[in-house]
Amino acid sequence: MEEALGLLQQHGDDARVIAGGQSLVPAMNLRMATPGMLVDLAGIDALSALDVAGDGSLIAGAMVTHNRFLRDDRVSSGWPAIGYAIRHVAHEQIRNRGTVGGSLCHADPAAEWAAVCLLLDAEMQVMSRDGERTVAADSFIKGVYDTTLAPGELLSRIRFPAPLRGWCWGFHEIARRHGDFALAGALVGLGVDENSVVTAARLVVFAVEDRARRLDAVLSDIVGRGVAEIDGELAGLSAAAAIDPRSDLHASAELRSHLVHVCVMRALAAAMERLPGVRNE
Ligand SMILES: Cc1cc2nc3c(=O)[nH]c(=O)nc-3n(C[C@H](O)[C@H](O)[C@H](O)COP(=O)(O)OP(=O)(O)OC[C@H]3O[C@@H](n4cnc5c(N)ncnc54)[C@H](O)[C@@H]3O)c2cc1C
Repeated sequence: MEEALGLLQQHGDDARVIAGGQSLVPAMNLRMATPGMLVDLAGIDALSALDVAGDGSLIAGAMVTHNRFLRDDRVSSGWPAIGYAIRHVAHEQIRNRGTVGGSLCHADPAAEWAAVCLLLDAEMQVMSRDGERTVAADSFIKGVYDTTLAPGELLSRIRFPAPLRGWCWGFHEIARRHGDFALAGALVGLGVDENSVVTAARLVVFAVEDRARRLDAVLSDIVGRGVAEIDGELAGLSAAAAIDPRSDLHASAELRSHLVHVCVMRALAAAMERLPGVRNE
């Protein structure tokens, strides 16, 4: 780690970290990135650790690959939303190489990891030769391919708070082909008490604006009501009205607005199917 941080400090803007290489190498092939120095993190064991801490939180080194999360029983039982979303990242081969840290630092607006980190209130640990700092998920990504990282800094760990009891989660995304980046996606979390009353609700939409965004206010009407009263159609329409979708080669703003409506409805339905006592995965 000392050596990596030293190289990053020494070479400043000219140095780039390489993790799984699944985004950086294509960018270099296209000459969209032309770093003079690549700092490979693969040999730093601490960055590949995936542990549950004493307080029950999940601590993931930045170099943990997408597939390691998917194959870890502790993750699937404690943080199932990770699996629901991350199995949609690219293809098997890419998930074997690509890392959580690489995805977050690349900051593609359609990346599932940024959405999951927002939903679960994750925190990022950032290191440089000058020390460490902790950044909340909401502040880590600033926009398209843009993060809070300064030259000389790297992302070392991601902390996911301890599992929430009585919560269920739903995910839905729409992509043109399986494995493509999503055109739109949504993640929902519902806290439900023993009387089937919703006590809290979280919503994240991604792939529609410059970065993933928490839109809990859209679900505020649901809180305090019984789950049987949840109106998914209304929630989908409210989410579509709350976003400012971008237009690009892949989808118009109008199409993305419609897709958000559909994704929120379906993510909500998926979460309700997993209500405690209904079905446990
Ligand atoms: C065909 C294809 C389809 C894909 N589909 C999806 C998809 O549907 N969803 C999705 O989310 N992703 C998708 N990806 C991207 C994939 O998930 C990548 O693995 C991920 O975005 C980058 O991870 P990486 O470890 O390969 O990072 P790299 O490519 O090595 O690095 C990416 C960037 O992050 C920086 N970086 C990496 N690690 C750190 C660190 N610890 N600290 C500081 N900077 C760092 C690098 O300098 C570089 O700028 C796809 C990729 C391909 C090729």
